[in-house]
Amino acid sequence: MTYLEKAIENIKARNANEPEFIQAVEEVFTSLAPVIKQHPEFEKANILERIAEPERTIIFRVPWVNDKGELIVNRGFRIQFNGARGPYKGGFRFHPTVNLSILKFLGFEQTFKNSLTGRPIGGAKGGADFDPKGKSDAEIMRFCQSFMSELYRHIGPDIDVPAGDIGVGSREIGFLFGQYRRLTGAHESGVLTGKHIIYGGSHGRKEATGFGLLYFTKAMFEENNIELTGKTAVISGSGNVALYTAVKATEFGIKVLAMSDSSGYVYDPDGIDVPAMIELKEVRHGRIKEYLKDHPKAEFVEGLRNIWNLKCDIAFPCATQNDIDLKSAEKLVTNGVLAVCEGANMPTTYDAMKFLMDEGILLTPAKASNAGGVAISAVEMTQNSMRQSMTFEEVDAILKVIMNNIYKDCLAASRKYGFGHDLVAGANIASFIRVAEAMMLQGDY
Ligand code: NDP
Repeated sequence: MTYLEKAIENIKARNANEPEFIQAVEEVFTSLAPVIKQHPEFEKANILERIAEPERTIIFRVPWVNDKGELIVNRGFRIQFNGARGPYKGGFRFHPTVNLSILKFLGFEQTFKNSLTGRPIGGAKGGADFDPKGKSDAEIMRFCQSFMSELYRHIGPDIDVPAGDIGVGSREIGFLFGQYRRLTGAHESGVLTGKHIIYGGSHGRKEATGFGLLYFTKAMFEENNIELTGKTAVISGSGNVALYTAVKATEFGIKVLAMSDSSGYVYDPDGIDVPAMIELKEVRHGRIKEYLKDHPKAEFVEGLRNIWNLKCDIAFPCATQNDIDLKSAEKLVTNGVLAVCEGANMPTTYDAMKFLMDEGILLTPAKASNAGGVAISAVEMTQNSMRQSMTFEEVDAILKVIMNNIYKDCLAASRKYGFGHDLVAGANIASFIRVAEAMMLQGDY
């Protein structure tokens, strides 16, 4: 057995009940054989097993009172995965499916993604098995306050800087920040990112993940001499990432045919009316089916993965993990898809990803193509520590440079280690080397 195989076996045995975490580790490690061969120092320092073990895991009780006066208990988590390159950094997810396996996979991915941005940030993830759907603003506020009442002692602008993820947007970040300020007595803006602009947020942060995904996609299409304008797209999800993917895709001349939420998808033959979708989902927090009220030509189809049955040139999975399975990937290929561009984290199952690559479909790996959000979170941290603010145009220009650099770095790493034009391998290798070297230089054992 090689060192790599042994490490994977040990990690599987140690984390046997954590399928999503094992999936994420295997996906990264299978690209690393030539790296381990060329860098015997990594094996000597057992870097693979060290890099797959979180530095710290905090699990805590979150008691809160609902509007009926009942006391509810949720479970809160913070995984401080790797701090070798900077303060721990990664979002909170509030969703009933949240568990240790999902947050460990997200923290692991985040560590590598953050290194690709070139900014000095480590990797983390957190959240709770709390379902914000159907809760009043007052309930969400009480939950956030209780969550922060435990968490505040573990975070700080130079320690750990959380942000949003599924179920956590600007409203929740506001409640969390308010409680942190109350408990510490300090307005430490840099402790959370994704804040509202009025109290230390950054212009362009809300748009950054979706816009960055399109900048990365554009770089890949240009490299392959394919025109983006005039293409059709399907976007799963209708949250932060999906909405701003739709905005920039439309701006680039792509016709967005369908978007979804966890109830199903809407298809609009005229192309999704993106401002109306933003009003529905971001402002009114409505269900996607309500889009039909003002768009009589549109149709609603129930079900989670049915959106991938639609014919399109580009698929943008922007909802959640393991959204495109092998069956969905086969359907996309039968329908002539050109590219799958990942906005969500690990939205493609491992077998689906392999199938798409074998079929010659262009694929952008999430840890590279959705890194724009955290990159601009790091820019938000910079503005906070300098007590300055940048314009939208300044931030957007930085985002473009970062996404193009990530694209180039992934391609260069892929070519250097014999994978040709394989962005998945390139992203895994480029990011792994940065984190591993930072750990080695600090004698992290
Ligand atoms: P939001 O909460 O804003 O939106 C999530 C969207 O996905 C909603 O439309 C939601 O539908 C849908 N969704 C969630 N869970 C499921 C599920 N199990 N099945 C089907 N649909 C589901 O989250 P974000 O847009 O912030 O995040 C989306 C993805 O992008 C996640 O994977 C996240 O980790 C990743 N990401 C986010 C970044 C950011 O900056 N926000 C940065 C990088 C990655 P419904 O409302 O019905 O639940």
